Amino acid sequence: MARTALPGRLSARLTWRVATLAETQDETATARTLRLDVPDWPGHLSGQHVDVRLTDEDGYSAQRSYSLAAPADGDRIELTVQRIADGEVSAYLADTYAVGDPIEVRGPVGGWFVWRPADPAPVLLVAGGSGIVPLMAMIRTRRQTGSRAPFRLVYSVRSPADQYYTPELRRSARDDGGLDVAVVYTRSAPDGWSRPPGRITAADLASLGWPASLEPSCYVCGPTGFVEAAASALVDQGHDPRRIRTERFGPSGSGG
Ligand SMILES: Cc1cc2nc3c(=O)[nH]c(=O)nc-3n(C[C@H](O)[C@H](O)[C@H](O)COP(=O)(O)OP(=O)(O)OC[C@H]3O[C@@H](n4cnc5c(N)ncnc54)[C@H](O)[C@@H]3O)c2cc1C
Repeated sequence: MARTALPGRLSARLTWRVATLAETQDETATARTLRLDVPDWPGHLSGQHVDVRLTDEDGYSAQRSYSLAAPADGDRIELTVQRIADGEVSAYLADTYAVGDPIEVRGPVGGWFVWRPADPAPVLLVAGGSGIVPLMAMIRTRRQTGSRAPFRLVYSVRSPADQYYTPELRRSARDDGGLDVAVVYTRSAPDGWSRPPGRITAADLASLGWPASLEPSCYVCGPTGFVEAAASALVDQGHDPRRIRTERFGPSGSGG
């Protein structure tokens, strides 16, 4: 059967490329940022992800998705990987994968869970645990492009030690006009924190997010259970489901 030629951009996205680890940065005791050089990277939108493929010497391979954490810098892309206990791929990427080592990467992937800087609408970002990664890409893109779209981030995380990007988020909340950052701790909060630790509630989203009447674009990302709870709370508050975009990272979990 004759093969249909793929349009150039699509075939570029479906091509596996050999990337090389250029730099790493620890975000927490169990999460690490990987900066990868990917030859001929085609560029991406904030919110998109890549597929990563590992292959061992016997030819066994495993493939997982990881969100792009920042706007592309030429051929350099950035991921942040949370080590999952007994995780086949995340443990390797977070612990063993070393600067100079190759890895296969394909993408960018995803066209719905994306934020475009030309969009002036208010944005509500709701992150559970490592779900902060693609939302951080949106915050970084907003800053890089000088967008004035009003942003609110509600970040649910277990404890201060589990927070990613802490100094940068603090700086952004201070310096990027129009960005509010609120952290909800689920297991232990800093001393003197007014909200007792606990899972994010509809009341948290109502007080820390935007009213539905402003018609914000909502992006919710994290473990499956977290995303479902947060998205349904937003619908209950009157947000139009068509403006709620979700990305589920894993099978379960509290999201923080
Ligand atoms: C679109 C998309 C984007 C993603 N972006 C990121 C990202 O930016 N950073 C990141 O760290 N992860 C991200 N993930 C999750 C990632 O793809 C893997 O699922 C995760 O790293 C676990 O893979 P593993 O091989 O280590 O675990 P596996 O060997 O596949 O699983 C080990 C155990 O952990 C459980 N498990 C699997 N995934 C999760 C999870 N996410 N949370 C809790 N338990 C889990 C499994 O049920 C199993 O019990 C993303 C997933 C998707 C679909």
